[in-house]
Amino acid sequence: MSRIVGIDLGTTNSLVAYMEGEFPRVIPDAEGHVLLPSVVAFTADGILVGEAAKRQLVRNPTQTIYSVKRFMGKGYEDVKEERRYFPFQILADHEVVRIRVDEREVTPPEVSALILKALKERAATSLGEPVTKAVITVPAYFNDSQRQATKDAGRIAGLDVQRIVNEPTAASLAYGLHRLKQGIVAVYDLGGGTFDISILRVKDGIFEVLATNGNTHLGGDDFDRALVDWLLADIRAHHGAHLGQDLEAMQELRLGAEAAKCRLSFEDRTVFTIPFPQHGFTYRREIQRSDVEALIEPLVQHTLGPCRLALADAGLGAEQIDEVVLVGGSTRVPLVKRRVQELFGKPPHSQLNPDEVVALGAAVQADILAGGITNMLLLDVTPLSLGIETLGGVMSVLIPRNTTIPTSAKELFTTSVDGQTVVDMHVLQGERELAKDNRSLARFELRGIDPMPAGMPRIEVTFLIDANGILQVHAKELRTGKAASIEVRPSYGLTDGEVEQMIEESFVHAEEDIASRLLIETRNEADTVVRATERALGQGSGLIAEDEATRIQEALAALKAVSDGDDREAIREATERLNHATLHLAEVLMDSALKAALASKRVTEALEKTE
Ligand code: AMP
Repeated sequence: MSRIVGIDLGTTNSLVAYMEGEFPRVIPDAEGHVLLPSVVAFTADGILVGEAAKRQLVRNPTQTIYSVKRFMGKGYEDVKEERRYFPFQILADHEVVRIRVDEREVTPPEVSALILKALKERAATSLGEPVTKAVITVPAYFNDSQRQATKDAGRIAGLDVQRIVNEPTAASLAYGLHRLKQGIVAVYDLGGGTFDISILRVKDGIFEVLATNGNTHLGGDDFDRALVDWLLADIRAHHGAHLGQDLEAMQELRLGAEAAKCRLSFEDRTVFTIPFPQHGFTYRREIQRSDVEALIEPLVQHTLGPCRLALADAGLGAEQIDEVVLVGGSTRVPLVKRRVQELFGKPPHSQLNPDEVVALGAAVQADILAGGITNMLLLDVTPLSLGIETLGGVMSVLIPRNTTIPTSAKELFTTSVDGQTVVDMHVLQGERELAKDNRSLARFELRGIDPMPAGMPRIEVTFLIDANGILQVHAKELRTGKAASIEVRPSYGLTDGEVEQMIEESFVHAEEDIASRLLIETRNEADTVVRATERALGQGSGLIAEDEATRIQEALAALKAVSDGDDREAIREATERLNHATLHLAEVLMDSALKAALASKRVTEALEKTE
């Protein structure tokens, strides 16, 4: 069995790790660095990846691509707002994001592939053997196309991606929390630009993700920005210099601020010194840890809301969390540790390097797949509910949000129109009640159904999500056996912000959503009763008294008058009155149908006898 490495393909930094005996180890480059900056530069001398690319970022901003993970599996529409934050050129009019470098255009998976390739080569050099198989981690909220794009990146880099694993699951594995007999784990991941919280359940060596939440634009970079703003004001006050427009000075300040912030994680005070010869002064200032803590306190507080939401989603109180795991460089900040400890009421695990823990866990997962560890199963979770559109534009959920994957769900549907031979299947993702408010993932048709009265066909819809989070939808008409299916590979995915927004909106709109869903359902029921009554009146015209027919006609007209309106109660009452008015007619029709059936049976028997 060839070796499988574990890769943390991060927004800021990427790492590769492997299992050495019983313990996972990260693999350093020739200079001993384990973190590979997720930066790729296209220069006149060729392509640079990692530290070398990062170093020339200021000089070559338009040809140096960073944070490419934010663009994975997305279309231009998804990122057009974010585009202005990046100095490189993100192209319009494409379903898949493309980045312009020199004369060529590259896609995010291609850029990520260059990072993966560098890690692959690093591993091969260190291990002294070719590396062709990998496990790659992604955030738990990554949707189908983002996971797909990550797999594509692996393929482009010449890696056979054995599994896409959620980052929090990997982090828990690195801490060996599978050895817990039973427990609930919170994984708090605060990196450079993103924050994720995940709640996992561990039972008898099995991991299950109960809930995830986070903020895709919150992290250590925001701490740096807060400090830079404070420094700019201080420089203005002491030297009268306005450096905000000086790009080079700003870059120096940003790097200096980040370095000072990191030192202050281990020291109470530090001295910040930067010469600005072009402005004729050197800025020098002592900074206390407490100064920075005051600056970043609101940002740290900002991470606690999503933690509470995730707990609520998991149906748990903070006191029910047994273990807390810290991931991401920014969890080294003492204030962050304190606030996390206060929220969950216990000291978090922070023994392992928070930058390495995801890659280490990916290596453990790789070992499980390679057969080294046999008693463990990994389960992840769907970030948003999945379902199909049903009558009246309502979303019918098959797999609710935060369901553990792999998973499948089956439900029976039927037609709404007599003689319908084609059913349009519309696959949706999101938390809202109405189809139009959710994201459309795919449409396909189930054709060739035998014409039958409405409600007769039995259409079984199956949703299947594999261990990588890729969705397959099958539809089958059970009477005729006609089937259709589709693997859902949207041309581009949701933005993370959209996922958050959709979840947020579902809270905000919950009440009005339910009201409109109920209204639509009441209207659908009214339509069904109207159609059935009209059919029955046609069939039973000679079978009932004239005044009964008039009463039914009146009730029918009354329902038709309100059924398109918004007054649900009025529609419901009118439907009930019509139902009541037609009770006798229904009995008469049933009776005559029964008599007809008996008569035809007698005729058949008589015929049989004469034969
Ligand atoms: P990650 O995305 O997990 O690689 O985390 C990167 C972030 O962690 C950056 O914002 C770094 O500035 C921050 N970071 C790294 N080391 C430290 C430290 N010692 N103290 C505070 N922040 C740190």
